[in-house]
Amino acid sequence: MVASEIRIITKSPEETEALGARIGAVLRERGAGATVCLSGDLGAGKTVFVKGFAAAFGIPPRDVCSASFVLIAEYETVPRLVHVDLYRIEGAADLDELGIWEYIGPDTVTIIEWAERLSERPDDVLTISLAIRSEQEREIIIRDETNRYHLQATAS
Ligand code: ADP
Ligand code: MG
Repeated sequence: MVASEIRIITKSPEETEALGARIGAVLRERGAGATVCLSGDLGAGKTVFVKGFAAAFGIPPRDVCSASFVLIAEYETVPRLVHVDLYRIEGAADLDELGIWEYIGPDTVTIIEWAERLSERPDDVLTISLAIRSEQEREIIIRDETNRYHLQATAS
């Protein structure tokens, strides 16, 4: 299967959060088992995106923390939502060693910040890269590796 890709420029944190909510709604609906891999520099908007994404699962944005002391946060939603932040990981991160494989599964949607630090990727993956274009602008590229989610229809 061929990957599909969409590219979006957001002009405020609210727009990025709203984009996260749109993608989150799709994955809550039919993304159980999926992993969303976010990459991009500090301040690119990964956590802002996750706040919107989690809101689609019914999690209040304030419950999603960017303080990266919490490596793995688990929410008892259906499907279950797991938020992983690898900011504090030194060097390449191994899903096994971090215990992340224990979370990834058919009943779970897993969203991972700093996924560029992973040494391996799960199979069912959306990769999202965020880049700072100006103080308020972010270029966000969403790649559906297996073209499973038909995001074109969602995010345009
Ligand atoms: P990361 O998790 O990638 O390190 P955060 O989401 O914690 O980044 O922070 C992004 C910062 O950039 C926030 O302070 C936010 O207000 C600011 N910002 C400015 N413009 C945008 C935008 N278009 N999208 C997302 N965040 C933005
Ligand atoms: Mg963050």
